[in-house]
Amino acid sequence: MAELLIPSAQQLIDGEWAAARDRGELPVTDPATGQTIQAVARAGRADVDDAVSAARRAFPAWAATSPSERGALLRRWAELIGGHVEELAAHEARDVGKPLSGGRMNVYIAQSIIDYFAGAADKLTGVTLPTRTPDYLGYTVQEPYGVCAVVLPWNVPSVLTAANVAPALAAGNTVVLKPSEVAPLAPFALAELARQAGFPPGVLNVLTGYGADAGAALTSHPGVNHISFVGSTTTGRAIMRAAAENLVPVKLELGGKSPNVLFADADMDVAIPAIVGSITENAGQNCYAGSRLLVEASVKDEVVERVAAAMRAVRIGPWDADLDMGPLVSEAQYRRVLGFLEEAPREGARLVTGGGPAGERAGGRPDGWFVEPTLFDDVDPGARLYREEVFGPVLAVQAFSGTRQAIEMMNDTDFGLLACVWTNDVSRALRLAGEVRSGQVSVNQFADAGVIGFPFNMQKDSGFSRGGGHGAMREYTQEKAVAIRLLER
Ligand code: NAD
Repeated sequence: MAELLIPSAQQLIDGEWAAARDRGELPVTDPATGQTIQAVARAGRADVDDAVSAARRAFPAWAATSPSERGALLRRWAELIGGHVEELAAHEARDVGKPLSGGRMNVYIAQSIIDYFAGAADKLTGVTLPTRTPDYLGYTVQEPYGVCAVVLPWNVPSVLTAANVAPALAAGNTVVLKPSEVAPLAPFALAELARQAGFPPGVLNVLTGYGADAGAALTSHPGVNHISFVGSTTTGRAIMRAAAENLVPVKLELGGKSPNVLFADADMDVAIPAIVGSITENAGQNCYAGSRLLVEASVKDEVVERVAAAMRAVRIGPWDADLDMGPLVSEAQYRRVLGFLEEAPREGARLVTGGGPAGERAGGRPDGWFVEPTLFDDVDPGARLYREEVFGPVLAVQAFSGTRQAIEMMNDTDFGLLACVWTNDVSRALRLAGEVRSGQVSVNQFADAGVIGFPFNMQKDSGFSRGGGHGAMREYTQEKAVAIRLLER
């Protein structure tokens, strides 16, 4: 098995590692120490031109490659990932600051996603259409768009790379991927393994750089035919404006403010650890993080006490200590989260636990961006903490009485990503699942564990996509309709 190296200050375009055209560099740092891990290339407009040109050149042959062959290459890629799990997990964990076992879990998820789309590649079909008389034939075919631009955030780089790149490639598109400037190492490492798996040059190109230059140049490039964006709602709006100029379709996966809705009859021993995990996993830096806890009033005091106790027990440390929670990804994110913690009491919220930096709790590390798991009770539904995405380990609690009020509070948000319902009453669970305005619902578990090909759907300000699952193959293809008249001879 070849060694997995990411060459310093380089990027992967047209099958070759090379420096940026102007030799610009970006430092990648370990958020637990603030130390630079390594440099990657800092791409500018000329690099974006090179990458898009390479992807355009590669497209006709790749689109003409048999779907089974495309699937076989994806499967080979997944196998290579399986042989490099520890190296990939270390890249993911160190770059983002998450515990090593969290990085490892992300790599296994990425591998399983690629494997899923390896199997899906040759199962994408159109339909034959009914006709008014036997003299006609009508059918549809699914065709790739061409060059797909994929722009990603930093929180789960390997999973998001797999979830966006694999279906695009399986469907016959070529890709230019721009990972986040904050955490590009795992995407680069995955792309190197794709190169080793034998994807032709130009099929998958990866460059990194700041959003305002490399990101904007890529998403406004006239050679791009489809844009997949995962990131904040604010940037999502900018990307849609750029896409409007070139009239290209956009898939958006944006922020969230997901509720855990906990009824008094729920199994608390299952629910409480899952609720705490939903806001401390990856230090709360997940789009679907369970950042609002809506609790039935009759059990609220007991629940708040138990959640706070579990939060106090969360072990915090750097990625290689492999505890429960690491630091936030950057100083900017740290300052932003502390800002919410300072403002919440002024807006009337009651601090129950946490509320500040966690350097001491993380072994006295003054240089890392550690924040305590924090619980605020009685958060006013108009407060910023209740309405905005914090992207940190901060939970806002509110009480409800009865199913109707639970539904109203669950939907009282601009976001619509995930809603989790905890109850042993199946009718109530189904009623909430039916009435919530979110792309995903889970009952008696947080998120979609245990379901294969679960669609990663969004509604409202969380975006719109058919990511994850077989629907993603349609997201990355356009339908062509063909009508034929059979002539007499
Ligand atoms: P961000 O929007 O700041 O950046 C995301 C990416 O966009 C980065 O690669 C950045 O360089 C690029 N970018 C920034 N400005 C750009 C511009 N003008 N044009 C083109 N590209 C630009 O987000 P972030 O801080 O990296 O990530 C956190 C956000 O991501 C949170 O809001 C989180 O909810 C969201 N997220 C969503 C999902 C999902 O599936 N819905 C998954 C993970 C993260």
